[in-house]
Amino acid sequence: MTLTADPTPSAPAAGAPAQERRLVTELPGPRSRALMERKSAAVAAGVGTTMPVFAERAGGGIVVDVDGNHLIDLGSGIAVTTVGNAAPRVVEAVQAQVAAFTHTCFMVTPYAGYVEVAEALNRLTPGGHEKRTALFNSGAEAVENAVKIARAHTGRQGVVVFDHAYHGRTNLTMAMTAKSMPYKHGFGPFASEVYRAPLSYPFRDGGLDGAEAARRAITQIEAQVGAANLACVVIEPIQGEGGFIVPAEGFLPTLLAWCRANDVVFVADEVQTGFARTGAMFACEHEDVVPDLIVTAKGIAGGLPLSAVTGRAEIMDAAHVGGLGGTYGGNPLACAAALAAIETIEADGLVARAREVHALVTARLGELRQRDARIGEVRGRGAMLAVELVDPASGEPDAALAKAVAGAAHRQGVVVLTCGTFGNVLRLLPPLSISDALLHDALDVLEAAFAAS
Ligand SMILES: *Cc1c(COP(=O)(O)O)cnc(C)c1O
Repeated sequence: MTLTADPTPSAPAAGAPAQERRLVTELPGPRSRALMERKSAAVAAGVGTTMPVFAERAGGGIVVDVDGNHLIDLGSGIAVTTVGNAAPRVVEAVQAQVAAFTHTCFMVTPYAGYVEVAEALNRLTPGGHEKRTALFNSGAEAVENAVKIARAHTGRQGVVVFDHAYHGRTNLTMAMTAKSMPYKHGFGPFASEVYRAPLSYPFRDGGLDGAEAARRAITQIEAQVGAANLACVVIEPIQGEGGFIVPAEGFLPTLLAWCRANDVVFVADEVQTGFARTGAMFACEHEDVVPDLIVTAKGIAGGLPLSAVTGRAEIMDAAHVGGLGGTYGGNPLACAAALAAIETIEADGLVARAREVHALVTARLGELRQRDARIGEVRGRGAMLAVELVDPASGEPDAALAKAVAGAAHRQGVVVLTCGTFGNVLRLLPPLSISDALLHDALDVLEAAFAAS
């Protein structure tokens, strides 16, 4: 498809829903309520939803529900549709692929799309060293495989993760995730040889700088695990579910240097931060951190399920032939979508667009913070932004306020998510196809929600 020159490069395609917030029923509307009843009767109760509103179409910065309400999307399906929902290049590539063939299994009769995605990831991820990539289906599956690869390479078993970490919901990644409710509660026993170290959390660290916070973690790791027992350190360069925590400058480079000195594999979990989200292709780039292995998923393929582990050839090639894989890993539809999503990020300048979103949103939220002492901090990079809500007197986390503000925004047609170990963080993850006008409207709604909560 040829895209005509357009002053807003990420403008939604013709055929995308009208780019305005429009409520034609109360939320949830009657069709969503009826579907919610069927969901309760048919879907396992453990599968919750943020909003009781069922989607019908989406594009640009809008999700249209089954009652015709147009909602502003500040969630991107949890940082997945970074290039936009039903992004034109993704739609075209998947339509062509689905008509050609849907699956052969790369481990049976391989196909070019998988190799092309591997080549693209080897090119785009930080570091000029020789790399290899393996593809999987979900973020958790890729994290598990990064651990398998690090263990095969080092011959050691220990895995270090951090406070507030989120790495998934499988057994090993539940062990790696910090927060009990809802991710782990009642689901143990968990995988062994997983050790937790303290993070750098500038808002709550009492002035500890990045290098000091890293030394605190390293001291604990050396005492409680020992480098000689350690296969890998796995860290989100900006923590996602844990509260959009940006570690103090110097934390990641100091940890990396210690890993290098001790032959410990440094694994960056960029499942949420990757693919232009933070105003760089990968969040590690903000501090010139070159991880040994980088795990990607979410924003990789415009909404199709795909994940990857990319890293140093000598580490990636340590697993024996046949040791890695899976029936669907690197499915041809997902690979076609990933190539189209990557082309969209590069051709439409979405890394720069994420920085524009950052400037617009942080200016508005900064003003709001001046007026509202319950906003303890505005933080994040690029279009991965959050406010941490606190009791102004004590600084204690205020989860009830986060819930109230998110609920008020939802009722006014703005999809916004919460996060944080203490549930007191509102996070904004708009698709990079959203317009400035929609961002301003959504921020107006959030402001009113704060005023009313
Ligand atoms: C979402 C997420 C995962 C898990 O990805 P799934 O595709 O849900 O398995 C892992 N790590 C991080 C940082 C995430 O944000």
